[in-house]
Amino acid sequence: TTWKKINLENRSHDELYEMEETFNVMIDYLKDNFEKQEIFVSDASHELKTPISIVKSYAQLLQRRGRDNPELLQESVQAIDSEADRMQKLVEQMLLLAKNQEQETYSKLNVVQLVQGIVDQFKGAYDRELVFETETDEMYINGNHDQLQQVVYILMDNALKYSDKAVDIHISQQGLTVQINVQDYGKGIPPEESEKIFDRFYRIEKSRSRELGGTGLGLAIAKVIMEEHHGSLSVSSEPGEGTAFSMRLPAINEN
Ligand code: ADP
Repeated sequence: TTWKKINLENRSHDELYEMEETFNVMIDYLKDNFEKQEIFVSDASHELKTPISIVKSYAQLLQRRGRDNPELLQESVQAIDSEADRMQKLVEQMLLLAKNQEQETYSKLNVVQLVQGIVDQFKGAYDRELVFETETDEMYINGNHDQLQQVVYILMDNALKYSDKAVDIHISQQGLTVQINVQDYGKGIPPEESEKIFDRFYRIEKSRSRELGGTGLGLAIAKVIMEEHHGSLSVSSEPGEGTAFSMRLPAINEN
């Protein structure tokens, strides 16, 4: 940021009034962002408090009764290990959110290949039906490969976490928009939650998400990445039937 001294002498009343208006808009914007940062720091501290206190109580338990209690030893070490994993994931995802504010390098990408890569990765790791369909083998967009793979990863990971049935991945192009759909047939998302799930740390069922290793940051990260790509991320869900997340990106016109 470069700061420039502004000379206020010899300005007309109208000019000063206009400047004041501009400053007010800027101040509101900064205030708003500052408040968002404050909320983020406070939520993040809150999220880290739980694993820290679990680790601490197991450590104290071990100190008192761990030496001659192999069962307790086993349970405590396991709990400490998994809580440490959890903190690691939280910190990694918080860093991702911070890093996404920076401009990453973009290049011409074939979306079909990019999505196929992630689908193959999941096929190797999960024993679940993953159906991948695409209208053509090549659809090009301009973007950052790793970030966009991250979005597809988050959506597929959620679809597999929150449902136990098949997951369909479908790519299509309408005019100048490429659309990637990730559809599951799980319990769905109630309409009143469908906006909130994109908020940082928001989870519909906190304990269930926690059990599944969730942090509540996945969709917030996905949304930021999509906006930076001048695209969008939306959800449509039918409670009891399933959920579809749609990524939309501007296509590169081949003509
Ligand atoms: P988490 O780490 O908890 O999965 P996300 O930001 O990825 O965090 O998702 C936020 C919440 O949205 C989840 O906790 C879950 O309640 C809900 N959610 C996300 N994806 C799905 C889905 N495919 N089906 C049902 N609920 C979902």
